Order: sequence, then C-alpha cells, then structure tokens
Amino acid sequence: MSIQTVGVIGAGTMGNGIAQACAVSGIQVVMVDISQQAVDKGLATVAGSLDRLIKKEKMTAAEKEAALARISTSTDYAALTGAQLVIEAATENEALKIKILQQLDSVLPAETIVATNTSSISITKLAAATQRADRFVGMHFFNPVPMMALVEIIRGLQTSDATHDAVAALAVTLGKTPVAVKNAPGFVVNRILVPMINEAFFVLAEGTATPEDIDNAMKLGCNQPIGPLALADMIGLDVCLAVMNVYMAEFNDSKYRPCPLLKEMVAAGWLGRKTGRGVYTY
Ligand code: NAD
Repeated sequence: MSIQTVGVIGAGTMGNGIAQACAVSGIQVVMVDISQQAVDKGLATVAGSLDRLIKKEKMTAAEKEAALARISTSTDYAALTGAQLVIEAATENEALKIKILQQLDSVLPAETIVATNTSSISITKLAAATQRADRFVGMHFFNPVPMMALVEIIRGLQTSDATHDAVAALAVTLGKTPVAVKNAPGFVVNRILVPMINEAFFVLAEGTATPEDIDNAMKLGCNQPIGPLALADMIGLDVCLAVMNVYMAEFNDSKYRPCPLLKEMVAAGWLGRKTGRGVYTY
C-alpha cells in the first residue's frame, strides 16, 4: 500500500515532529489534538522549526510554505478518514491510548493502518484493543523527529507482514532508517540506553568518578555525543526510573535494579533540566 496521507494524533513534541517530517517529504498530513490551542501550538512549532532550516540554508521559503500547506489540522477524528495511515502520538497513558484507538476504529475504514509512537506500552496489548490487530504496528520515532534518522518498527504478535512493510517503506520515504523490532519492553534503543544510564548512576554513587568525568569518559571513549548523566538530565530522572521499574517488573531480573541514588534524586524532586536541577544544576 502506498501512503500519501498520514493522520497524526497529538500535536505535541512528537506529533508535530512527525507531521513536519511527513510534510517536508511530500506527504499530506492531518494533525489532530484535543483543542484548537494545541493544534495551533503544534503548527507554530513546525513553522518555527522550518524557519530555522531556512536560516541554515537547508530549505527555501517556498519549500517551507509548500510543507506547511500539506498540513491540515482538526480537533475531530472524522478528519482522518482519508488517511492510509494514522500515527497515534498522544500522551503516554495506556487507558487514554486504548480509548483513542477505539475511537479510531469507529471512524476509520477497515483497511487503514494504525501505528502508535508509544515508548513503553506493549504493541501486542494495544493491538488486541483494536478491531484491526493485523493492521496495527509500533512506529517509534526519536526526538527531535526531523533530525533523528531512526524509526523502530515494532511488530506486535498480530502485525501482518504487509503492515510492517508499508510503514517501513514510509520511514524510508521520510529519509529515515527503519529497524525491525519484535515487541518487548524498551524495544531496542531504550532497552540498552536506560540500563546504561542507570549504571552511570551506580558509578557515580560508588564515587568512582565525578559526574563530569563520567560523562567525558563516555563521550571520548565511546564517541557518544552526550554523556549518560547529562542525557539523564535531558530525559528526566523520573522517566529513567520509571523505565527501570518497568524492566524490573517485566523481566523479573535483578540486573534491572534501579540505582538507589537515582531513586533518592527523584524523591528529592531533582528530575533534571525540567526542574532546574538533576545531576547538574541549570
Ligand atoms: P506531549 O505531551 O508533548 O504531546 C502529547 C499531545 O497529545 C498533547 O498535545 C495532548 O494534548 C495530546 N492529546 C492528549 N490526549 C489526546 C486525545 N485524546 N486526542 C488527541 N490528542 C491528544 O507528548 P510527546 O512527548 O509528544 O509524546 C507522545 C508520545 O510519543 C508518547 O506515547 C511518548 O511515549 C512517545 N515518545 C516520546 C518521545 C519524547 O522524547 N518525547 C520519544 C519517543 C516516543
């Protein structure tokens, strides 16, 4: 199936990034959120991001206008009926996502593919809540979407080959590289990344090195663009802890034990950049 129109649910950080990536690649987009204010904010974010590309001479003003003209917005799911694919990028909450998926079932044609950008909820479980389990798939984009080259394509137990292949082809159209992933907690990237961050907290707690030296060591020794502790501050220490708790519960393996220092810092409200203090002070 060739995908010419993509619906995006949620105009937040990920939703507006996905809308932008589609629109600059010549795909028509319908972006839906719960309020006009939210869709207007999402669209303004896209316009601002395209302006920065113009400043860097990576885009012309005419290309910006053409991309923006491909994005329509609505607060009504009925606007999504013409899309071949709808990507759900709403708030990370299982009950909310199930409600959205059921609402989509009532308005979308049977053949429409539905994808979710969830970071942590089981694709198999969400698929089971829809009436299109074989046409349901995970498309896990990375933040910021317009810059990041990876899309994890996650197959639930029920996902058909045709569904997988159609969204993988779309990822290529968007200039991204799809990797095929079976449904499992954390998929690939977060499964490896978050335990590494947790380990950095153990190294810090044991006094092996200072935060700056831990981050410099991983930047210079592993060619990472940012050290694990600075990255934790960007992601949010609470988010890192929640992810470790999920792995601990799902795998029942002590190797996923959250570092006590990470738990202490979250208890103190030191959540990273968003609270002005995490491992570092902002
Ligand atoms: P966000 O809070 O920036 O945006 C969520 C948007 O969803 C909001 O604009 C909200 O109004 C909207 N929304 C809520 N309920 C809705 C409904 N019923 N219908 C339509 N829209 C609704 O969140 P985000 O960071 O963009 O995350 C969205 C999804 O992407 C989550 O599942 C998250 O786990 C996933 N994700 C996030 C990142 C990241 O770095 N932020 C990376 C990968 C995946």
